[in-house]
Amino acid sequence: MSTPTGFMEYKRELPADRDPLERIKDWEEFHKHLSEDQLRTQGARCMDCGTPYCHTGMELNGSVLGCPVHNLIPEWNNLIYRGLWREALDRLHKTNNFPEFTGSVCPAPCEGSCTVGLIGEPVTIKTIEKAIIDRGFEEGWVVPDPPKKRTGKRVAIVGSGPAGLACAAQLNKAGHTVTVYERADRIGGLLTYGIPTMKLDKKVVQRRVDLLAAEGVQFVTNTEIGKDIPAQQLLDEFDAVVLCGGATKARDVDIEGRELGGIYMAMDYLNSTIKSYLDSGLADGNYISAKDKTSSSSAAAIPEPTASQRRCATAANRSRNSARMPRRRLRATRSRTRGRSSRTSIRSIMPRKRPKRCSGKIRGRSPC
Ligand SMILES: Cc1cc2nc3c(=O)[nH]c(=O)nc-3n(C[C@H](O)[C@H](O)[C@H](O)COP(=O)(O)OP(=O)(O)OC[C@H]3O[C@@H](n4cnc5c(N)ncnc54)[C@H](O)[C@@H]3O)c2cc1C
Ligand code: SF4
Repeated sequence: MSTPTGFMEYKRELPADRDPLERIKDWEEFHKHLSEDQLRTQGARCMDCGTPYCHTGMELNGSVLGCPVHNLIPEWNNLIYRGLWREALDRLHKTNNFPEFTGSVCPAPCEGSCTVGLIGEPVTIKTIEKAIIDRGFEEGWVVPDPPKKRTGKRVAIVGSGPAGLACAAQLNKAGHTVTVYERADRIGGLLTYGIPTMKLDKKVVQRRVDLLAAEGVQFVTNTEIGKDIPAQQLLDEFDAVVLCGGATKARDVDIEGRELGGIYMAMDYLNSTIKSYLDSGLADGNYISAKDKTSSSSAAAIPEPTASQRRCATAANRSRNSARMPRRRLRATRSRTRGRSSRTSIRSIMPRKRPKRCSGKIRGRSPC
């Protein structure tokens, strides 16, 4: 244990975020770092529990408890408290191939399971994890570590998201010869083309891809298995094939207004924006912009809503808002409206006339 009473003496601290007025000027990450002293103090809050729930990754009633990769959290909390950063990095890498990704974007079920959280605020586990790996890269401790011996077995991995990359890292470490196939033009799956850059800098993804390549993993981009290369060919040429294709099929919603212009699936938006940003710093204009709903640069690719769609969308919004408002106001003013029925109150607030210019039903199926 770092200090027996650390969790009572010190408060939880998180790194500050960049000033919003500053960070809207670029697409860089917006979390800052804690100082080394602050991190040491945060490490001191860990009780080194006999049963560390933070580390015990398990599923209970559909919820994840603790760290899914079983990070040795109490150990590296203590090492940080003692200033042993290199040792902390080694412990972190024992269970986690990519702490720089998890330290940035993991939802941190470890913190939700931390025992200190029962009576106060949990230990800042994720911040410490990120600090350890960032320091590891800064100090030059994270270097390619190719296997000493190769097994002679060849493995193909389809898909280069975090699942494919972790699989490649482990199999390569075991000495197998690994080739990763990716249909996109860049490696990383949703790490590259899903999670926005302000949450995960793409240079951080590329840095890890370069390390894996230096350790002997081969990457083949712009190649869709099943289209550019038949699946049978992989089965014939490799000793094993691992499918890590993610879930490209989006889950659409069947709700009123979905057919209107200017509504996109999140991945269409993110994919186009991140690709344009990485290719040309957004100069090529090949992205969906939320500015004025559609950007002039991408207007050709993105259908503008028709005049009738716009009118109906406005009318439907107005109608929805006016129907919701009385209920909200009624809840707040129930005591004041005693003696009047809800129906009377609603009528007094509802617009008397239908919004103009919409030829169809307002809340039902409109012709647009
Ligand atoms: C906007 C967004 C934000 C997110 N934020 C977070 C977050 O903050 N924290 C978090 O933990 N998770 C987050 N996630 C979820 C996380 O990104 C996914 O759970 C994770 O990327 C899944 O990894 P994967 O390797 O299984 O699949 P993917 O990352 O989807 O990778 C699959 C890859 O396989 C490739 N592929 C598919 N079929 C073929 C084929 N036939 N041939 C060749 N290649 C193929 C695809 O092109 C893709 O690159 C986020 C997801 C999105 C979309
Ligand atoms: S549950 Fe919290 S206090 Fe206990 S070992 Fe894990 S991080 Fe430390």
